[in-house]
Amino acid sequence: MPSGGDRHARDLIWGRKSDALRDLNRRRVLRAIMVSPGTQVNLAKFTNLSQATVSGIVQELQRENLVVVDGNDNERGKKVSLSNVRGVAIGVEVSYDTVTVAARRVDGDVDRVVVDWSGRGAEHGSQAWMRECVQLIGEVVRRTGLDETDIVAIGLGIPAAVDPRTSTISQVAWALDWERGMDPGARLQEHFPGVPVIMDNEANFAAYGEYLYGAGRGTETMLFVKSSTSVSAGLIIRGLIYRGRHGLASEIGHLVMDPLGVVCQCGNRGCLETAVGGARLVEQVRGAYVGYRVDLPNSLANIVERAKSGDLLCRRVLQDAGRNIGIALSRTCNLLNPEKVFIGGELGRAVELVIEPAIQTMRLHSLGGMFNYVAPMTVEASELGLKAGAQGALAYALTVHHIRPN
Ligand SMILES: [Zn+2]
Repeated sequence: MPSGGDRHARDLIWGRKSDALRDLNRRRVLRAIMVSPGTQVNLAKFTNLSQATVSGIVQELQRENLVVVDGNDNERGKKVSLSNVRGVAIGVEVSYDTVTVAARRVDGDVDRVVVDWSGRGAEHGSQAWMRECVQLIGEVVRRTGLDETDIVAIGLGIPAAVDPRTSTISQVAWALDWERGMDPGARLQEHFPGVPVIMDNEANFAAYGEYLYGAGRGTETMLFVKSSTSVSAGLIIRGLIYRGRHGLASEIGHLVMDPLGVVCQCGNRGCLETAVGGARLVEQVRGAYVGYRVDLPNSLANIVERAKSGDLLCRRVLQDAGRNIGIALSRTCNLLNPEKVFIGGELGRAVELVIEPAIQTMRLHSLGGMFNYVAPMTVEASELGLKAGAQGALAYALTVHHIRPN
């Protein structure tokens, strides 16, 4: 693995203070190359700049020895990537029971990403996950051949809604020791002075990851449902994350399925999450097996494994979860009519057990044109799986134009 060049990527996109249009455009192109080395045509699409502007900037960057342009196609079809630049982007996904950290060198291929997990997520308290997070970041950065001084930006995905205007929590699960108005991103930044930390809901980042690096590439509208301990979703419209006024858009887990149902951690009743959330599924299987088996499943991952190896009860519980998700998705899709739907999180690992029943149910309850007309909507498992959130977080942290004040 190359050792990196002399120029720091962080200085290139954050260091300059000039707001002159040319400088803003230059930083925009640099960010786009850092997110994904690509052709000038793709860079123009990603940045919303004209091809002539991108071409001029790429020539300037070539003269400064900051990019290399290669490939045998015509000028605009050649791939532009960074050279002589040191930098690594970090993405963090905090879930209820895990912290996932991804690191990718901004001068490398998008596939060369280092990902690591820890078993201490949000439910262990903010002290615990923050400590795990800082340690994992150090480890994955070293595995890219760089060190912490080379971190360009950190994206932090959390299992709570984040107000897009204030970057603070607008709603959180009551089970966690977080409060409305809190800013965990600022706390993480204390460990990495000078590095911008960009925070959002973890399902929003998972959707963004799938859109940029997974099976969602090139889609106009896509919905990503993350179904693990909690159930949430992210919506991408023309390359942008749709958040809504308070960051509460796409909260599919809290669509009411049964107004008289079980009380949900959000304070309402009968939400989708009370039917298909990880804890509920584990409870169902354990309840049915009480008195019969000693090795009761203790996690959703455990249930998925057992179902795959033929356990009939675990299979039934997952199939029912799929049907419930299908009902919630038909309502959502009748409202949004997306091009593609992805199911990720733990349940995304059980394609024929969860996704097939979900599709069958959607065919019964969605408007038929979505499935039967030209270029029908597709519903499939996430390609990036459990890595989607951390990868989307690192990409988004490179993309945004504002910096959290230090
Ligand atoms: Zn709820």
